Amino acid sequence: MNQSTHPTVILGGGFTGLFTALHLCHQRYSRPVVLIDQNERFIFKPLLYEFLSGEMSTNQVWPRYEELFDCSGVAFIQDTVQTINLKQRQIDLASGLRYTYSNLVLALGSAINYFGIEGAKENAIPFRTGEDAMALGQHLHSCLQRASQTEDPQQRRTLLTVAVIGAGPAGVEIAATLADLLPRWYDKLGGNSQEIRVVILNRSKEILKGDVNCHLRATAQKTLQQRTVPVELLLEVSVSAIQPNLVEYKRYQHSDTLPAATIVWTAGNTTHPLIKNLSIPEEHRDQHDRVCVTPTLQLADFPEIFAGGDCVAEGDKPLPLTAQVAYQQGTAIARNLKAISEGKDPQPVQVNLRGTLLKLGLGESAANLGDHFEITGRLGHLIRRGTYLQLLPTPVHNLKISLEWLIDEIFHRYMKPNSSSRVLRWAGGALAVVVLTSSGLLIWRTTQPTQFNRVWRSTNLPTFINQLLPEQKKPQN
Ligand SMILES: Cc1cc2nc3c(=O)[nH]c(=O)nc-3n(C[C@H](O)[C@H](O)[C@H](O)COP(=O)(O)OP(=O)(O)OC[C@H]3O[C@@H](n4cnc5c(N)ncnc54)[C@H](O)[C@@H]3O)c2cc1C
Repeated sequence: MNQSTHPTVILGGGFTGLFTALHLCHQRYSRPVVLIDQNERFIFKPLLYEFLSGEMSTNQVWPRYEELFDCSGVAFIQDTVQTINLKQRQIDLASGLRYTYSNLVLALGSAINYFGIEGAKENAIPFRTGEDAMALGQHLHSCLQRASQTEDPQQRRTLLTVAVIGAGPAGVEIAATLADLLPRWYDKLGGNSQEIRVVILNRSKEILKGDVNCHLRATAQKTLQQRTVPVELLLEVSVSAIQPNLVEYKRYQHSDTLPAATIVWTAGNTTHPLIKNLSIPEEHRDQHDRVCVTPTLQLADFPEIFAGGDCVAEGDKPLPLTAQVAYQQGTAIARNLKAISEGKDPQPVQVNLRGTLLKLGLGESAANLGDHFEITGRLGHLIRRGTYLQLLPTPVHNLKISLEWLIDEIFHRYMKPNSSSRVLRWAGGALAVVVLTSSGLLIWRTTQPTQFNRVWRSTNLPTFINQLLPEQKKPQN
């Protein structure tokens, strides 16, 4: 069979894979596209905390692939990839299905690293998927209910203690969220919320060490102390084992334990096993065994294969493992696949890092914009939420969700029944609509200029904004 009659197969429907597929659709890619993911739903990981806390709903943060690919022409297959045969261009799935591809996109993300710590996999709850968030939420509800009924103070203390292993961004964000959320949940059960403890255990003496968010360290450290219950930091500890309801650790040569009914694991990533097993020479891998890609995001020995996101290494300066990198690489892979299908050359890909965003509690975030400005508190929360809403998978989806959020912000926060007069309330509401809509559109135009222009092209909005604001300069290499 002629290779070009085979589909373009995308392995993994996370940030890289999903946005490759969606951009191929928008570009009217002429070849069939198959996307394979083990899960039924896409999870928007940066908003996983909002999903856990109920600040955002399932259909916003955890939509079904079938819904996202409705009318798109992409065939979605829910199955687990078992082997990838690069020479035969074949993919074998757990169900026994086999796909032969003309082009392949590797977008499998990373895997959890438990560092061989005894009992970690069995007794700690990971926090990476929609299923993890659901499981953690149910577990926490059950602990709080049991705590509200027990007479035994020691048992209550254990039930009300959450140990978060790791002080990278996920550890900091989940700890900050839980330190505001659990007191609310426990208050409703009639418990004393000041008995709740959220403790971060971290190997190094700094939080956010070596992370893109490290510029926000001082703000994060201060904000963690200002939560409804202050987050406790146990730094320079080495976790040695995790048992049910107990973390064992060493600190300055002394062994100690922390009884905790909830132990959340956020401590590390490792290269996906399928990527480790690819028959690719060592010189085309980095020290973590990720595959190295060319500037056009192709594999050097297999130019029909593109790869992006957490499973690849590109160039000498490694890019952070973030959604913004994976999203941009997915978009670029789609552009290059389209170019190849039209007989053109694929183009080198430039990833622009546009600052970082960190959730630091309910309704509280820090935004580090282009390493120049730091915006914190409620405004930081609005910027973070607005930015992510514009990144939701399809323009229709993100427009719908943005409107829901806007209405919620205005009617529930700015138009409270005790505001002094009706006129003032409506004026405040109208002003909030104008401010939020314009800032939402500006954030969208700044962070996703291509998507913004595509969606609003039929109106004169992009031209109007271009006339108001000076042209954005692309950063120099
Ligand atoms: C809790 C959390 C919060 C985060 N917050 C932020 C943030 O605020 N900002 C930010 O920029 N980044 C954030 N990140 C990081 C960001 O989400 C990742 O860098 C990004 O998702 C990587 O995209 P990817 O496409 O490489 O992999 P993923 O998005 O992980 O997608 C990989 C996909 O492959 C599928 N898959 C894996 N193995 C198989 C298999 N064998 N068969 C079939 N399918 C398979 C998975 O189901 C998954 O859908 C966060 C990560 C986590 C865990």
